[in-house]
Amino acid sequence: MNRPPAVDGGRTRSTGPFSGDWERLAAEIRACRLCPLGATRTHAVVYRGGPSPRVVFVGEAPGATEDATGRPFMGRSGARLDAAVAAVGLADGEFGVLNVLKCRPPENRFDRLAARTCRPYLRRQLELLHPRALVPLGAVALRELAPEAPPVLTAAGRPYDSPDGPIFPLIHPAAALRSRTLRERWDRDVRALGAWLRSVV
Ligand code: SF4
Repeated sequence: MNRPPAVDGGRTRSTGPFSGDWERLAAEIRACRLCPLGATRTHAVVYRGGPSPRVVFVGEAPGATEDATGRPFMGRSGARLDAAVAAVGLADGEFGVLNVLKCRPPENRFDRLAARTCRPYLRRQLELLHPRALVPLGAVALRELAPEAPPVLTAAGRPYDSPDGPIFPLIHPAAALRSRTLRERWDRDVRALGAWLRSVV
């Protein structure tokens, strides 16, 4: 059986085999038409990263570039995320990136109903990847992983417990592109994430 390679920052690297269960799940997601987004997407976007990541970054939904390429967090916000990953010292294969929704919502409007339908895929991905820590990126991912946490601008930059284990929320990297204040917030919170990861992961 052909094993999918790990993908990092637009470069493709092999970091070892994914399990058969993972491959079956990825194939199921790529073929999924369970909600209306299945009819409008170009590609379902499953994951990029190693098969046994220490940390998984969780975003909201694919955008236009992700829909076109089938890979999460490409483009400018993906570049910002990749720079943050490098800054906190995570090497190839030590991290993964995925989204709550696997298919792009039209006009990038997050679809809560679709997310409910899609949720079992996220749950199964986290179960199979079993990372030591999760980093929700933005309000949607934070609400999905830790419904009891405060709003993202309050929660970002510090660790919380969640049903999935320790999480460390950040604002969405796309938000950090919008203003100098949010860019400084992003940089500060990424430094705090690096210090936290060194102590716990
Ligand atoms: S968003 Fe999720 S549930 Fe909807 S078609 Fe895509 S993979 Fe299936």
